[in-house]
Amino acid sequence: MTVVYHPSFLTPTQVHGHPECPERVAAIMAKLEELELLDDTVEPEPAPMEKVLRVHDGAYIDFLRGFGEGYMDPDTYVRPDTLDAALIAAGGALEAAEIAYNERRAVFAPLRPPGHHASSGHGGGFCYINNAAVAAAEYVERGKKVVIIDYDVHHGNGTSDIFYDTDKVLYISTHQWGIYPGSGSFEETGEGKGEGYTVNIPLPAGSGDSTFASLFDRIIAPICSEFEPGIVLVSMGGDAHYMDLLGSLALSTPGYVELLRKTMKMADAVCEGRLATLLDGGYHIGALADVAAGIVGLFDGKDVETEFNETRDTGTFGKGSIERAISAHAGRWSLGRSA
Ligand SMILES: [Zn+2]
Repeated sequence: MTVVYHPSFLTPTQVHGHPECPERVAAIMAKLEELELLDDTVEPEPAPMEKVLRVHDGAYIDFLRGFGEGYMDPDTYVRPDTLDAALIAAGGALEAAEIAYNERRAVFAPLRPPGHHASSGHGGGFCYINNAAVAAAEYVERGKKVVIIDYDVHHGNGTSDIFYDTDKVLYISTHQWGIYPGSGSFEETGEGKGEGYTVNIPLPAGSGDSTFASLFDRIIAPICSEFEPGIVLVSMGGDAHYMDLLGSLALSTPGYVELLRKTMKMADAVCEGRLATLLDGGYHIGALADVAAGIVGLFDGKDVETEFNETRDTGTFGKGSIERAISAHAGRWSLGRSA
């Protein structure tokens, strides 16, 4: 199965001991190797600057280039080689999307540094260049519509900001409510032409497998089928896992695999299977590698024995959130009020 990977994804960007560490991707690659899921590895080029500048301000890129070394925000360190590493991660997003687009299939890319908190004019939350946004903008440039589905435990405020006023990119985010970065409420639905094209599903702590299965079937699937994207991009945060310490959602590894199975099936139905799955967060090293292996196995048609399999949410813990998100969007999209 095609995995887009570059040794640059192992570049340290945060300070020593920080959860966003190179071991995240090293563990994923070691696990994929161990399970013989790495038969086709593609090494990306850095993203061309003209493609990055579709979603980021030139002044911000100049700021990163000239920053030197130190903290850009209290969570996000910058080093002299950080911009180069971020450009290769964005190139990885472009490469994964291009393979998915041309070959009409699902592709996984364990990108570092992550991207979804990076907005046009600023980074933050361990992010510098918005990888998924750079890839999405490429297909918009080619006259296609794109959906970005963000399963990270945190709201992708950068991705949301970048596409808030367009109807060409549909941004759907599931995230825990009440944690960093604080945005992503039901009421944030886009503006201008983009009204209705930002769909937030903020969830209470404890929401897991049953909640995600239900919100996919009741919200994500019908909206995506009505939107008819040319390609589906996933911001694949592993930090909604019950093992992760940065959030309190409760997806299990099989819960993630089931979510991606549904996402893949939807992509098959709406855009001939074009699905690029781009790593964002995920900070429990073992659970992250477990999820990545489960997903790559799914894409490859192989059953992978996973380790973190406890279903903790069997009662659709986030059902109130699902109802509120449906209410917020039933005017724009054809959404049923009950299951
Ligand atoms: Zn996250």
